[in-house]
Amino acid sequence: MLHRTAARTLIGAWNSSVQNVRLVKVSSGGRAEIRIVADDGWPRATLGPVRPGGRVTVWFGRQAVNDGYDTTRIAAHELGHSLGLPDRKPGPCSSLMSGSTGGVACSNATPNAAERSAVNANYAGAAVSVQDSSSGGIVVDAP
Ligand SMILES: [Zn+2]
Repeated sequence: MLHRTAARTLIGAWNSSVQNVRLVKVSSGGRAEIRIVADDGWPRATLGPVRPGGRVTVWFGRQAVNDGYDTTRIAAHELGHSLGLPDRKPGPCSSLMSGSTGGVACSNATPNAAERSAVNANYAGAAVSVQDSSSGGIVVDAP
């Protein structure tokens, strides 16, 4: 499963990559805008960008872990969907949103320049109301 250290690594990777949005751990009893659920299916996520007061879900499916894919990369990829990034498949390991097409050996959990700027654009002030209308579908990451 996603261990505490891996969670810190991937949240740190996102926070050091983008300026316009910040991932923080919700305080006890607080309401999380990104809910992370573990199950036995394929990893999947609500396509964001999630907004303050909104709610998206990441299903951290164990199927991809069982098939050997990197745990931190899977979680970072699904969080990318929460922040409004679609899949870019097929693609190289250097792309976070290439997902499983980056290969089983790929452990890159950091968004590339294009992915970083797309997230920053999703969370730039003027884009907020426009982006909301196109979000909400579930993206399933089966190879
Ligand atoms: Zn995906």
